Amino acid sequence: MRSTVGWQVEGSSSTLRRTPLERRDLRPDDLAVRVDYCGVCHSDLHAIDVRDGEGGRPLVPGHEFTGVVTETGPAVTRFTVGDPVAVGNIVDSCGECAMCRAGQENFCHAFPTLTYGGTDRRDGSTTLGGYSREYVVRDRFAYRLPAGLDPAAAAPLLCAGITVWEPLHALGVGPGTRVAVAGLGGLGHLAVKIAVALGADTSVISRSPDKADDARRLGAHGLIVSADPEQMAGARNRFDVVIDTISAPHDLGPYLRLVALDGTLSHLGHLGPVTVETTDLLVGRKKLSSAGSGGTPATIAMLDFCGEHGITADIELLPSARVNEALDRLRRNDVRYRFVLDLSDLDLAASVRAS
Ligand SMILES: [Zn+2]
Ligand SMILES: [Zn+2]
Repeated sequence: MRSTVGWQVEGSSSTLRRTPLERRDLRPDDLAVRVDYCGVCHSDLHAIDVRDGEGGRPLVPGHEFTGVVTETGPAVTRFTVGDPVAVGNIVDSCGECAMCRAGQENFCHAFPTLTYGGTDRRDGSTTLGGYSREYVVRDRFAYRLPAGLDPAAAAPLLCAGITVWEPLHALGVGPGTRVAVAGLGGLGHLAVKIAVALGADTSVISRSPDKADDARRLGAHGLIVSADPEQMAGARNRFDVVIDTISAPHDLGPYLRLVALDGTLSHLGHLGPVTVETTDLLVGRKKLSSAGSGGTPATIAMLDFCGEHGITADIELLPSARVNEALDRLRRNDVRYRFVLDLSDLDLAASVRAS
């Protein structure tokens, strides 16, 4: 086994502690990645805050990271030592089912192997995530990081970015499509940037008017204040696509009413049951959809697109030793728009421990 160090939560605690970790020895098709930057996702918070064992313990979160290849297995041909790479929230899949064959490994019928809290398909061990200095990953699930993208700000593309890319792409968003993005957080701000770069006429829907400047800076044409009934009524039936990234449970009705004839509301930010008044779908033949994560071809396409258009997340970069502070602030939604951990401080931790 290989030794590394990371941020782990144990038992009923929700405080992460610096902990020595083991990674598997490289298989023929594995890469060892020095993790430099890892984004802090809402899913990490859910996994940490679940105390009934469902989240799995011990837990090392982190499933959107960038770094550099430090070693390759003998069967690896696509990467060499020194390559900048990125890894998302899936690190393996069955490779044989219809979804995998369609390049939608994120929907693998045999369940994709998650980057943390997943079960390794070959040795049955529980995967430990990217809040650590090293990750060992099958080469198929590592991605080349496009030149010119800041590796810290690119890390969130691997979960937040691909999660909004897939529905925008699947719904055919392009020049002239009228898109509204509800919720301007980690997912939402990337949805705006990508929709704008795709040529869509993009608006933001937010609870309060104070996001108006940010919306414009991100390239949106306007902001609709969801708390203002007049503005919401004025935007009725206006959008071909509404990307709903609001992370708390909420009524979909007001957002469905903004969708145009035959348009789609893609509900991304919140997992769980929703209640829909069917007349909100019936009037205008509207569609309700969802998406999450992405397959390997889409992830490559998304990274290429972001490389061409210089799209990265707006981040707040913190040394990884401040991970608990980042999580506390994320619990209060106090971030614009994504925390990213700089894991280089773990080297210092390792040398201090060794001395
Ligand atoms: Zn995530
Ligand atoms: Zn599969």
